[in-house]
Amino acid sequence: MHPLQMPLMAYPWGSKSFIQNLLGRKDLIGLPVAEIWMGAHPSAPSTLRLPHGIVPLDIYLKTNPQALGSAAHSFDTLPYMMKVLAADSPLSIQTHPNLSQAQEGFAAENAQGIPLDDPTRNYKDANHKPELICALTPFTALCLFRPYMELTQSLIQTGLQHILPPAKDFMANPSSDTWKECFAAILQLKPSDIIWAVQTAIEEKDTPLSQWQIDATEWVKNLADKHPADAGALAPLFFQLHHLQPGQALFLSPGTPHAYLQGAAIEVMANSDNVLRGGLTTKHIDLPEYIRVLDFEPRPQPVINAVQDASGVYYYASHAREFRLGYATLSPHQIIISQPRLPAIFLCTQGHITLDDNQQKLSLKQGESAFCDAQSGNIALSGEGMAYICELGS
Ligand SMILES: [Zn+2]
Repeated sequence: MHPLQMPLMAYPWGSKSFIQNLLGRKDLIGLPVAEIWMGAHPSAPSTLRLPHGIVPLDIYLKTNPQALGSAAHSFDTLPYMMKVLAADSPLSIQTHPNLSQAQEGFAAENAQGIPLDDPTRNYKDANHKPELICALTPFTALCLFRPYMELTQSLIQTGLQHILPPAKDFMANPSSDTWKECFAAILQLKPSDIIWAVQTAIEEKDTPLSQWQIDATEWVKNLADKHPADAGALAPLFFQLHHLQPGQALFLSPGTPHAYLQGAAIEVMANSDNVLRGGLTTKHIDLPEYIRVLDFEPRPQPVINAVQDASGVYYYASHAREFRLGYATLSPHQIIISQPRLPAIFLCTQGHITLDDNQQKLSLKQGESAFCDAQSGNIALSGEGMAYICELGS
């Protein structure tokens, strides 16, 4: 077990207080801090404090492959990343590729000689990126498309059915194919048409809007204030809008369209930084590639609640073989995780906890994290507080 030092990401959409308070970094209050990263991604690995010095986690795992345990059969590094994400402003509309899309895309961009740090690069690695987002505060997210009936109502509310031929085609014959054509056309609207559609959507109507439309329209106003000529401002009318309460989570398969709008969360994902963006960003957008990997099937997005196992840890159902997320709430009693799927990362989010693997004890206070390699056995947790645990998946 080793204490972990986590890189901070200062993106402009970051919260001016959440991560600062979690880490006790009063010096950063008022500055946007968006994410802390716990993992071995080479672009920003966490570091281990070892007796002889500081070592990046990716380098440590290369030189100590036994730390990966059985995961070394399938993966050459830590297969997951855990982040704390804190957003005051909306993040981009995005999706992530599946494994074959990532492998092909990464190889193709390498063959074209695009440097890895080139901002126009879509694929920074050859890995897919399923992800799970678990709210730490009330958290608002857009995720997957709405049912066809609601998409039709939104095309009427925005007036787009009058100016976009693919919108008429979709309304006459709703299917994932006609919706794909329609959504692609929306993302390619001229700025003047976007501004007109936003105005049409938010102006008062003769027939009252239903509750989901009122909720979505408020977010359209909010997004259009920040991104007036960006078609992504219309996304709340086309994507499902989720208001997660602390402790609730969403699992996002590759291809799922999504945008995180506001709040703080724990995010776990496969060890990848492959993002395809569709709007609400000044970063690189490759619209044809975004559309190509997007899942256009109308599916409900289940909200997941964690289930307590026999040890007392609450785990979220995960469909990823790379990770599963759990949390433990400790009062002065002890929890023994008898068969942790190691390697694991522990993050203390409240109070203080002590990890004991029979060889070593490690105490973490709020905002501190630790890496437990595969040589640890049972891990006893004690203390008073709360810890999130990321382990290998199934
Ligand atoms: Zn994402």
